[in-house]
Amino acid sequence: MTATYELIGNKYKTLGFNNIANTLRELIEFAESQELSFLQFAELIATKEIERRNENRKKLYLKKAKFPAIKTLEEFDFSYQTTIKKKQIISLLDFTWIDNRDNLVFYGPSGIGKSHLGIALGVKAIDKGYKVLFINSNNLMEELDLAGMKNLLKQKIKSFCKYDLLIFDEMGYLPWQKKSVFNFFQLINSLYEHRSVIITTNKPFSEWGEFFIDETAATAIIDRIIHHCHIFPMSGESYRLKMQLDKQNSGGNL
Ligand code: ADP
Ligand code: MG
Repeated sequence: MTATYELIGNKYKTLGFNNIANTLRELIEFAESQELSFLQFAELIATKEIERRNENRKKLYLKKAKFPAIKTLEEFDFSYQTTIKKKQIISLLDFTWIDNRDNLVFYGPSGIGKSHLGIALGVKAIDKGYKVLFINSNNLMEELDLAGMKNLLKQKIKSFCKYDLLIFDEMGYLPWQKKSVFNFFQLINSLYEHRSVIITTNKPFSEWGEFFIDETAATAIIDRIIHHCHIFPMSGESYRLKMQLDKQNSGGNL
């Protein structure tokens, strides 16, 4: 009997159905104990394989997304961050904005949950099957500059275009060189109406000219970003500060 399981298991392996191959005995025992019909058993096998492939895909996409940490919407405290409504974020979970190539901008001071929301939406997008990449804006600038120096900017931009959603974190914290702004413009131009971008920034668009040095380039970049865009202005006290104060207060009470 074991030899038969092995033989059939190998056939499933040949088809690339490794999960079925490895769990064949349990699946058959389950089907027998539940007295499943042939039709139900056929469905069970397909469902199990789809589930496993989906799990593997999610794991792979999460790894490729390069999130600095996993953040979820479930752990986001909307009663602390009140300048953005839970309803607004929940309404984004149908991901029509990605299908329509719309962008999102989370704008506000440090520590108020901009990156958290960007990552959490990215994680949900991966659940739905979208490919996501998270990148800090200064790293993005360096990657584009390096590619530019090697005459590989086009290829680099092409590699970014493979993702459905790109999250550019912390735009505007440091000033950029003119060359970097030009490279970024090329990227934004390629992504425009083709891919979705989430931008987190502490600077209003009116101040982007400062870190992009060049007002004209900044305007051209902003135009493309905001043409199809949902902008979320946020404010409030830093959550990091709150955590620190909570810790100190609970320490003081001990
Ligand atoms: P920002 O990007 O706006 O500077 P972050 O998203 O990095 O801020 O948030 C700082 C830290 O505080 C992170 O660890 C994040 O998970 C947490 N945080 C911020 N806002 C909230 C919130 N409303 N609920 C739960 N955690 C939050
Ligand atoms: Mg941040």
